[in-house]
Amino acid sequence: MRKKIVAGNWKMNNDLAQTERLITDLRKQSKTSKAEVMIAPAFTNLWQAYQTLKESSIEVIAQNMHFAENGAYTGEVSASMLKSIGIQTVILGHSERRAYYNETDESLTKKVDAALANDMRIIFCFGEELEDRKSGNEEKIVGDQIKNALFHLKDSAFKNIILAYEPVWAIGTGETASPEQAQDMHKFIRKTLTDEYGSDVSDAVSILYGGSVKPNNAKEIFGKPDVDGGLIGGASLNAEDFFAIVNAF
Ligand code: PEP
Repeated sequence: MRKKIVAGNWKMNNDLAQTERLITDLRKQSKTSKAEVMIAPAFTNLWQAYQTLKESSIEVIAQNMHFAENGAYTGEVSASMLKSIGIQTVILGHSERRAYYNETDESLTKKVDAALANDMRIIFCFGEELEDRKSGNEEKIVGDQIKNALFHLKDSAFKNIILAYEPVWAIGTGETASPEQAQDMHKFIRKTLTDEYGSDVSDAVSILYGGSVKPNNAKEIFGKPDVDGGLIGGASLNAEDFFAIVNAF
């Protein structure tokens, strides 16, 4: 049985006091679904968030990391630094990082390897741009993003990999892929994995959908057979909305 996961990507939102307030609000919510819940606050607030939530069922995860172990990379944070404060999971390849910080398949491959070498779990994000979909190239783009960054890995690595399909045109735009569009792409992603690694691997990998998931559309999207959860941006900044999505399973 694949894990159901709902992860909140807080992006560059919430200072320390706001982080504490949102965590307090999250702890007041009740979870009625079996989904694993994760939140990704900013680097500056990870330690505090981790300390507050370490005995709870909410996992605190990171939004990014560098591929090097340490060294002259001003402003960066490594996998072992994250591990040293208790963080076990990192989001890699978010479309905003690809677009604004020039993350490429090549640099992401190095990040994937560094995270796995530190025994971290990865939420690996990918997705096509609007022009790719308009020109019917979405499967080619998505297939290449997955192959280029992940297909050098051994089968066993996939127990630490969660995939997140996030069509760029649906992130923060209010535009959502229809549940059918999400299912079609998730099915394609699982087949891409099956073709390379076999169904023992592909059936076990959770594939999340991200892109304007809200309380009013989560149930329908999560109802699709190959959608195993969501990566949530805007709606994760409100405790009630986030838990309405968590409980949509
Ligand atoms: C995201 O940033 O991963 C995301 C899905 O954002 P939003 O839910 O706001 O579209």
